[in-house]
Amino acid sequence: MKTPSFYKVAVNAPLAEPLLYLLPSKGDSPKRGDSVIVPLGSRNTTGVVLGFADTNAGNYLLKEIIQINKERPRLKDPFLSWLEWLSEYYLHPIGLVMEMAFPPKSHRKRKIKSKKNPVLKEYSKSSLPDLTFEQNQVLEQISVQEQFKVHLLHGVTGSGKSEVYLRLLDETIKQGKKGLVLVPEISLTPQLVERFTRRFGSACALLHSHLTPMEKTEQWWSIVEEKKQILIGARSALFCPIPNLGIIIIDEEHESSFKQDSQLRYHARDAAIMLAKMAQFPIVLGSATPSLESWARAQEGRYHLLQMKERVANRSLPNISVIDLRAERRKNREDEVESHFAPQRLPLEKSLPFWMSKQLYHSLLKALSAKEQGALFLNRRGLAQLALCRSCGFKKECPHCAISLTLHHGKHLVCHYCDYNEQLSTQCSSCLSGEIQPLGMGTELLEKDIKQLFPQARVARADRDEITGREELEELIRKVEQREIDILIGTQMIAKGLDFPGLTLVGLVMADVGFSLPDFRAGERSFQILTQMAGRAGRHSLHPGAVFIQTYNPNHPSITFTCDHDYSGFAEKELEIRKELNYPPFCRLALLRMQSSQLQQTEMTAKKLKSILELIQTQHPTFAALEWLGPAPAPILKLRNKYRFQLLIKSPDPGHLKTFCKQIIYNKKWIPRGVELIIDIDPINMI
Ligand code: ADP
Ligand code: ZN
Ligand code: ZN
Repeated sequence: MKTPSFYKVAVNAPLAEPLLYLLPSKGDSPKRGDSVIVPLGSRNTTGVVLGFADTNAGNYLLKEIIQINKERPRLKDPFLSWLEWLSEYYLHPIGLVMEMAFPPKSHRKRKIKSKKNPVLKEYSKSSLPDLTFEQNQVLEQISVQEQFKVHLLHGVTGSGKSEVYLRLLDETIKQGKKGLVLVPEISLTPQLVERFTRRFGSACALLHSHLTPMEKTEQWWSIVEEKKQILIGARSALFCPIPNLGIIIIDEEHESSFKQDSQLRYHARDAAIMLAKMAQFPIVLGSATPSLESWARAQEGRYHLLQMKERVANRSLPNISVIDLRAERRKNREDEVESHFAPQRLPLEKSLPFWMSKQLYHSLLKALSAKEQGALFLNRRGLAQLALCRSCGFKKECPHCAISLTLHHGKHLVCHYCDYNEQLSTQCSSCLSGEIQPLGMGTELLEKDIKQLFPQARVARADRDEITGREELEELIRKVEQREIDILIGTQMIAKGLDFPGLTLVGLVMADVGFSLPDFRAGERSFQILTQMAGRAGRHSLHPGAVFIQTYNPNHPSITFTCDHDYSGFAEKELEIRKELNYPPFCRLALLRMQSSQLQQTEMTAKKLKSILELIQTQHPTFAALEWLGPAPAPILKLRNKYRFQLLIKSPDPGHLKTFCKQIIYNKKWIPRGVELIIDIDPINMI
């Protein structure tokens, strides 16, 4: 075979296409997938050889490849073609996508030093539990030997999905293949990791964002050099080139954190399905509340639907009661009238904080007397304590984002988006006379009130302020497991995947948050969060756990279907609405966002974009079916000092959507300096 003359190299730079290089004058000639060092402008950079060209079509003056980069393993197909697909589908520069397939440190560590704090602790092996009837049935229907198939495992909370994953992985290893488990970052708790290491011991590797670059690099090589057989990780673990991969398992497949919201805006679930398809192995998506996209595909028969409707060991799903906070308030007022006449009979509940209903209070009391644990969840998004002027209504906003500041520790005002913070001043800076006071509630307030109501109880709070690092989360989980905590207070962040034997009571303090977010997935997300939080209760007790959902909207479908444990009813109803409004899964979306530090310039450019879209559409009849909404100011108009306008494109066909967006993204000459255009394919975060 004659050696090719020109090499196509995906260089580590924001370029749409690979560049051409000449054969290195000394050393071996590279093959497809080899990492190379190449000159780019005045510097040297890394790149991956994608292929060869017979002609130098542009007649450019070409440079030579300097050498093969032996620090990095050769990327093989189909993994390499999958990386090319990612670049093409998400419209992200090919060389930058390639970089993601390598560990943070270039030098591989030769000797692993023994460390005090290893990435994976050692646990004694656990014995295998007898499978439940449903677990057995599901396992009979998944064959790890088969070619590509997407299995959607819909199992209620506590139905034992993890045990199904463990058995599948065990089979995969026995076949001499490897397994990848992706979970949302936050559920990568010691609880989950412990379960896997107890079963597979030293066969596990772990990748998540709290590891140091050195630890990541070590874990990465242990898989690539086949010292380990199972990789557990957050979404980016998908980019580890695992030799002989035989199965991917995605737990909590509905989680929006599988979508990356910057750079390469990929969805790890969707990307994993494509990898499984290209490499021909099965993939399992597990959830108690599948995304409507996955559910619809299962209904159409494109995914294989498997269901587990019962909790393990005859444990029942919790009893869920809805408490109408509006009625609760009316009742309190009546009590007030009564107590006016009989102040000596003032009931204890009279002194309850406004957010605590009598039922919730009494159940909490009961659980504590029975030496059981309770958890109170507050889905805090947009519901933290604000600082408001009582005379003019002025609300302190972040100077960099169009977002109200949130009160912390009663004295700091913090922006939850960019971390800006300032001291709370008591005097209003707008009317100069009014007094600034806190309004609304947050987990801090819950904790304060609870400590007053139950002075003898041991209370812990878990939210992004309290729990900033992994160690703190691990310590908290340990304390709850060891029953050193009686009442756990937290945001939904901690509700994910936790499994506490003593937890029998769950209170969702105010379920309404999120119902009215300007996002077509608001209802779906609320349903998922409510079901997840409720699912923490009574996972191990023989008497069913109790869940109280406090709300101002007791008839909201996200609440009523949660109470009935009726996922499919919810999905059916929600899909009808999606169909009517033509939203996914009935169409594909692309979000085009313009952003810059100048409000007017951003808006003008967004309008210009629209006219360009219209022009492209009239010139190409293939795009006739495309529709768009906007341009409109983003729900958060200003974020980190940038004004944002967006345009949402809807297309019945993913292919058309891509070619359409491609026309725009790689021809940006018309965009004024300082304005940035972002394209998000299959967007999740549209705020
Ligand atoms: P899910 O992920 O479906 O919510 P888990 O996998 O966390 O449920 O299982 C819930 C609990 O049931 C866990 O404590 C797990 O150890 C236990 N479990 C799972 N399968 C079995 C089984 N076959 N027999 C007994 N206990 C089981
Ligand atoms: Zn004021
Ligand atoms: Zn901010």
